[in-house]
This record gives sequence, structure tokens and C-alpha cells, in this order.
Amino acid sequence: MQQAATPIRVRVFFDIDGTLLYTDGAGRVAVQAALEAVYGTSGPIDGYIFHGKTDPRIVVELMVAAGFDEAEVRRRMPRVWPIYLRALERELEVRRREGRVTLLPGVVELLAALDSRGDVTVGLLTGNIEEGARLKLAAAGLGSTFELGGFGSDSEDRAEVARVALERSRPPVGDAEPVTVVVGDTPEDVACARAVEAYAVAVATGRHSVEQLEETGADAVFEDFSDTGAVLSCVLKLAGTEDAAAGAAGHGGDR
Ligand SMILES: [Mg+2]
Repeated sequence: MQQAATPIRVRVFFDIDGTLLYTDGAGRVAVQAALEAVYGTSGPIDGYIFHGKTDPRIVVELMVAAGFDEAEVRRRMPRVWPIYLRALERELEVRRREGRVTLLPGVVELLAALDSRGDVTVGLLTGNIEEGARLKLAAAGLGSTFELGGFGSDSEDRAEVARVALERSRPPVGDAEPVTVVVGDTPEDVACARAVEAYAVAVATGRHSVEQLEETGADAVFEDFSDTGAVLSCVLKLAGTEDAAAGAAGHGGDR
């Protein structure tokens, strides 16, 4: 097939919760409902930290903590997801109507800026199972933005999710492998980027501060994405593209 398309030089993978959007606890409530239906308990879910973890890892950790044998947790796990998804859809709809599903600052503008470039692809790298990810994005109005990705339904291990995402976005034979940038709001996102030798851009719109994220050694840390030009030029600079604007604000290093 002949085409004059620009080769993809950089692929940018976004985490969802705390990075693109905030669902005001819809996921937690839905997980709780599904665990209680399948295991009869949600274990120590109050106070349990969800962020940075894949959905299957959350189920295993909570149910092992509740006293279940790990093999038994895994045996019942397939029954969790349909109940979880129904509950998530319901919880998201309630919150969407009440204006409690929020896109984080600058996300729409940043995605548009990345999308306008022929040499950039945008994907997802998330601990959410794929259908859950799609429900959250749709509730926030980002339903059709992302085609590629890796999800919690691909693996319980976030680094493996990243490897799956890269495999799915491999360039056509003969094209150079693009630079990969992983964007997220937790130290786990940064670690996941490192596991696949990708650059890490962190944003403090989740539960971690700029200072905490800087300690992870992320290549760049932003308070939020409201300065589209700064984030875009940071990504392009990491990718080594020659048209990256000089002096990108927020750029944390030259890795
Ligand atoms: Mg997150």
C-alpha cells in the first residue's frame, strides 16, 4: 500500500484516573458492589489505595486481605467484571448528571494538540479493564479519542500492560520504532514507563504532589496540563523531534 503519511515518531500513552479525568469514586463504589456480590465481602476497601494498581490486582489484594486463598480469588474473578461494569455504568451516569465526572485542566486542549500532529499517536495505558476504561472516557466525553492501548484486562501487572500496549502499536515493518512517552499521575506510572524504557511525564492532578512525583525521577513533572504549549513541547523534546519549541517549561531533565 502506498501512502505519503508521516511516520509516527512518538506515541504517547495516557493513564486515565487522576491524569485525564476524575470520576469522584465511581470505580471504588462499583468494585465494592462487585466484590460483595461475588465474595460476600469487600474486605478492607475503606482506606485501601486504588491508584496505580490494575483492576485485577485490586481484587486480588482486597480479597486475600479478607482471608481468601489466592487461587480461590482468581477462580471467582471472571464473575466480578460483568457486575463491576454494570455498577460502574450506573455510578458514572449518576455522577455525570450531577456534574461530578470531571476532565482535568488542559486535557482536551492537549489531546487536540497531539492529535493535530501527523507524527504522534495517542493511546491509553491504564490499570482499568478495557470496558471500564471506555465507560469512564465516554462519561467524560472522550469516548472516541483513543484507539490503541494496554489495559488491566491484559494483565494484572502494570509493566506487562505497558508491554502489551507497545506490541499493539508497533510501526509497519521498515518504519523506525517511535519514542514512547508514558503520562500518569502516580509513581507506579513512572515505574511502568521505566519497565519498558519509555520516557515518563507525571502530572500532579491525582493524589501525588509535584514534589513527590519529582522524587520518582520522572523526565518531566507538571502541576497540571493547563499550559498546552509547554506540555506539547516537552513531549516533542523528549521524542527528539527537531521542531520542539525551545525552552519547554516543566521539562525536568535530558534523559
Ligand atoms: Mg492514575
